[in-house]
Amino acid sequence: MVARESRISGFYKLPLVERRRAVAHVAEVDFDELVRDLETGLDPAVADKIVENVLGTYGLPFGIALNARLNDKDRLIPMVVEEPSVIAATSNAARMVRSTGGFRAQVSEALMTAQIQLTEVSDPLAAAERLRAREPELLALAAAAVSGLVARGGGPRSLEVRDLGDGMLVVHVYLDCRDAMGANLANTVAEAVGCEVARVASGRLGLRILSNLCDRRLVRVSCSARAEDLRARPDEDTALQRDGSDVIEAVVQASHFAERDPYRAATHNKGIMNGVDSVVLATGNDYRAVEAGAHAFAARTGRYQPLATWKRDGELLTGELVMPLALGTVGGTLRVHPTARLALKIAQVTSADDLAMLAASAGLASNLSALRALATEGIQRGHMSLHARSIATAAGAVHDEVDRVASALSANRAYDIAAAERILRELRGP
Ligand code: NAD
Repeated sequence: MVARESRISGFYKLPLVERRRAVAHVAEVDFDELVRDLETGLDPAVADKIVENVLGTYGLPFGIALNARLNDKDRLIPMVVEEPSVIAATSNAARMVRSTGGFRAQVSEALMTAQIQLTEVSDPLAAAERLRAREPELLALAAAAVSGLVARGGGPRSLEVRDLGDGMLVVHVYLDCRDAMGANLANTVAEAVGCEVARVASGRLGLRILSNLCDRRLVRVSCSARAEDLRARPDEDTALQRDGSDVIEAVVQASHFAERDPYRAATHNKGIMNGVDSVVLATGNDYRAVEAGAHAFAARTGRYQPLATWKRDGELLTGELVMPLALGTVGGTLRVHPTARLALKIAQVTSADDLAMLAASAGLASNLSALRALATEGIQRGHMSLHARSIATAAGAVHDEVDRVASALSANRAYDIAAAERILRELRGP
């Protein structure tokens, strides 16, 4: 066994092929298989069988965030994202919290919610009583509809009745989906028990579908950073340099800002979703479901709140993220997507809960990086210097011209295509 180590020094400077070799080695994935799964990706003929009206497939960058430790194990984090700086930001923050042990995460229960809507219930109180009394039979009916899941140790666990007023009752069936995301499983359950639920309640059957506000499938992740690991680096803008303790204070104030202001909380949470969604996409999961759940959860008190908050804890900055995450390592399109399966291998994911903890860690890291940058030199220098390479590429730079044009753009702090084209013309000469 190769000792796993998520710190690979000079990784970003390595040529592509060497980066692939390093990851294959650390993740113990066959190099040729890794290259094939990255180069071929999803075959258009297969894509044609997944969705409708297919013309082809659509490529996005697939990268790896380094330096992460999760529950005492080093982990590589596969990320798929079109935005520059997200992967670097996640790696940087993972490094900042490494000396205090990295990320600690847990999933205390992982239940999906299937909803059955009933209307025209004349006596909701009595109907709710009857439904609760019939819970064992209703759960047995639900279990019979997902026997494959039950055989794997999952299945329906409990039932809840909610009175929404005006004769509308909604029944929740909570379902352990094991390693599946569980939307189809929850829908199957909702449809299987719907008629019987309506009969018992003497109501009219309405919708039967999962809820994406899966607040019985929460992941909790925390991390701490020492002041000396947060202080400004020599390459950063000196005008706004702060020592580590000031950075802690500034990040705590940034967290208070998000706690008090939904305009800020939205952007704060977007930074978290930069990390989360990139892992969700890389591993072939449903990012719309994750987004819907995250924002509904953020607004659950009636006021939109940050998903992660930060506080000073003695000499440390400590952050905690809590969010719903319904992810699968089986089912959906995973069977047929070679790059998504490769991502799960690279991350050495052991279960759906494990994947949720990894994605949430990427979210908290991404948040820390953004808050630290905002609290010190501002977000633009770091972000735009990384964005400069895609501007250079858009201006027509190729091979080593890209980095040379990007460096010139960063030096001049002018990040537009016209400037890049001018630099490129000068570089190429007459
Ligand atoms: P699925 O239909 O593929 O079900 C999972 C299957 O895997 C089941 O048959 C299960 O028995 C089997 N399985 C094998 N090994 C398992 C294990 N270890 N643990 C659990 N199950 C195991 O997929 P799903 O997860 O029920 O649904 C996910 C899909 O549903 C996604 O494609 C999602 O986009 C889609 N969807 C989402 C919504 C929504 O979020 N609102 C609505 C409808 C559909």
